[in-house]
Amino acid sequence: MHWRSKLIHPTAQAPSGFRSLVTPIYRGSTVLFDKQEDAADDWRQTERGYTYGLYGSPTVLELGARVAEIEGARHSFVVPGGQAAIALVYLAFCKAGSHALVPVTGYGPNRELADGLLKGLNIEVEAYDPLIGADIAKLIRPNTALIWTESPGSVTMELQDVPAIVKAAHARGVLVALDNTYAAGVLFDAFAHGVDVSMQALTKYIGGHSDLLLGTVSVASEVTYEAIGSVFKQLGMGVSPDDAGLALRGLQTLGVRLERLEKSTLEVASWLDLQHEIASVLHPAFPSCPGHEFWKRDFSGSASVFSILFKSDISANQVGAFVDRLRLFKIGFSWGGVTALAVRYPELDRPGKDYGGRLVRLNIGLEEPADLIADLKQALESVAKCETPALP
Ligand SMILES: *Cc1c(COP(=O)(O)O)cnc(C)c1O
Repeated sequence: MHWRSKLIHPTAQAPSGFRSLVTPIYRGSTVLFDKQEDAADDWRQTERGYTYGLYGSPTVLELGARVAEIEGARHSFVVPGGQAAIALVYLAFCKAGSHALVPVTGYGPNRELADGLLKGLNIEVEAYDPLIGADIAKLIRPNTALIWTESPGSVTMELQDVPAIVKAAHARGVLVALDNTYAAGVLFDAFAHGVDVSMQALTKYIGGHSDLLLGTVSVASEVTYEAIGSVFKQLGMGVSPDDAGLALRGLQTLGVRLERLEKSTLEVASWLDLQHEIASVLHPAFPSCPGHEFWKRDFSGSASVFSILFKSDISANQVGAFVDRLRLFKIGFSWGGVTALAVRYPELDRPGKDYGGRLVRLNIGLEEPADLIADLKQALESVAKCETPALP
């Protein structure tokens, strides 16, 4: 053969038999078949064998299998991010004319999808009070196809009575989906509490280092496996094996990171709770958090993200100045990494509640809690001195 052909069809190979502790990064779009008759285009690779890279290389399927193992799922689909996971769940279970329910405290981009693309597809998504519990039954209509739960809710942290919602939903044959990102799929056992489909942003705790974007959609039954899988394929939600490799690495340290983050976060939150500028600490393990009793009943721990509400004699501008003056806490969205973060929410769609732009969400990282407290202290002190005018 000409050397140019040898470049494509080599006979030389590395010796086989390398055994390490790491899942290799398998790249590949085309998958080879032995015989023409074997060539198929099937997303059910776990059962049928590999058919196409888009449905996951072994690195990606291993990540899905390991997430499914710790969540107690039948299968976990790995998708490009948490928001992609949310979109996949909606599109798998809702069609034109469907009605769906989402808590007002749902992840912001979930609500945006509901009001945007889904509305255009004639799927009506109604927002409900996260503390509704069994009364969700009153909102179920003949065409209700899906009820979202998210506990705690994004930013304002309300815990939900998920089992009560599941009971009411199943009595009417309605599926329940859970955004289980806060719990990293482990601090709340979605399937033991009756949820049908559980998704999480691996971007947060499983990635754990702010360097990847991935999500999973986990299912417990054959019916949900088929429903999600078919739409997963149609939408072409493939992910990079490199990102999956990073997430596999992150999984190995999830236990120690969560334990440390919980402890540090409780320490910082407890300190904040004593500061006279703070009206309330919205942390699931604190009785001041709405729905705290459901956290106590259903969760095995708490995580690193929580919010603080400043007292009403402190202006929104002063709260903004407080965030600007933080040094160790960086300003940014997303959470679950090793770095402390802060962000003020100027506007929140929470009917009947006005936080007046005085709510700040914090993510605690792996810094020493004493240093984070010192940082919060200096920022609080400078706010007390700052003479910014109150917003109208
Ligand atoms: C971050 C987040 C998502 C979205 O995850 P991405 O990977 O950033 O798309 C979804 N739900 C919740 C609750 C989140 O915090």
